[in-house]
Amino acid sequence: MIANIASSLLEHYRIHARDLPWRALPGEAAQDPYRVWLSEVMLQQTTVATVVPRFARFVERWPNVEALAAARDEDVLNEWAGLGYYARARNLTACAREVAARGGFPRDEEGLRALPGLGAYTAAAIAAIAFGARAVVVDTNVERVVARLFGVERPVAQVRSEIRALADGITPDNDAGDFAQAIMDLGATICRPKAPRCAECPLKMHCAAFASGEPEAFPAPKIRRLRPHRFGIAWWSERDGHLWLVRRPAKGLLGGMAALPGGEWGDTPSPAPSLALVSHGFTHFTLDLAIVALAKPVGEGWWQPLDTISEAGLPTLYRRAVEAVLVRRSDLFAA
Ligand code: SF4
Repeated sequence: MIANIASSLLEHYRIHARDLPWRALPGEAAQDPYRVWLSEVMLQQTTVATVVPRFARFVERWPNVEALAAARDEDVLNEWAGLGYYARARNLTACAREVAARGGFPRDEEGLRALPGLGAYTAAAIAAIAFGARAVVVDTNVERVVARLFGVERPVAQVRSEIRALADGITPDNDAGDFAQAIMDLGATICRPKAPRCAECPLKMHCAAFASGEPEAFPAPKIRRLRPHRFGIAWWSERDGHLWLVRRPAKGLLGGMAALPGGEWGDTPSPAPSLALVSHGFTHFTLDLAIVALAKPVGEGWWQPLDTISEAGLPTLYRRAVEAVLVRRSDLFAA
């Protein structure tokens, strides 16, 4: 059965592989590890549809790891704006510099894992996809497929090592790169979290969840905890069509990104009258950010022309804050 799972999946992949700009199609020479690495980092927590155009822009600007190693941190952060999880962008330049200094990417998982920002998943993905090594590549899509195939009912967070061992058991010795991409594709397009398309699935004859008649019930959903809520202020200082922006401290949330100035985020809302309010969800908490007018600019920063604000590299939270003020203002003028 186990060998059949791999061969059925690979056969399906050879016909149905998604054509993605960072991917070598089945039968083609393996992709440049730089492109595999970059795409894997971009795809963490960001959808394929969002990543495709951003990836193209990024590799046009920095076509190889040496070019990225020579880039300014600020430029990379600005280019990353809107993709979220900005620690990824900071690790990207650190990793590129280390790879360029050592003359290329390590070819095995252990060497790859020693690079800045590379976790077990990314190291396994690069080893398998770029270097053809037998590596067990397990992301959230793969976890779901494997749980369903083997009828694992408990929430994934409680059975990670068991699922990994099961994934190991179905990974073939050859074609590990194609196999990894095939199972990830299956999870993204057919074995979707909701309404899996089992009728089209090459693995349905091997699948315990399909046999149960309720494939969607596997694995059980994770137990959600309520995220705490915080409040913050962002200062809006404007002069002659320019807005005062600062750079956030290098360490911490949105570290090194362009931002509106403001204090710490806390547990109580601002009493000051605000120009606009935006609500934003981070992974571990939600935030209400009040944008408050301030005549005198605070902190070290720069005057950004409002007509080039889209080029300032603002992350989504502050981009939305600026948009909220500008929209509100145009509504007032229109009234
Ligand atoms: S048969 Fe259905 S549940 Fe099983 S792996 Fe395929 S799509 Fe997923």
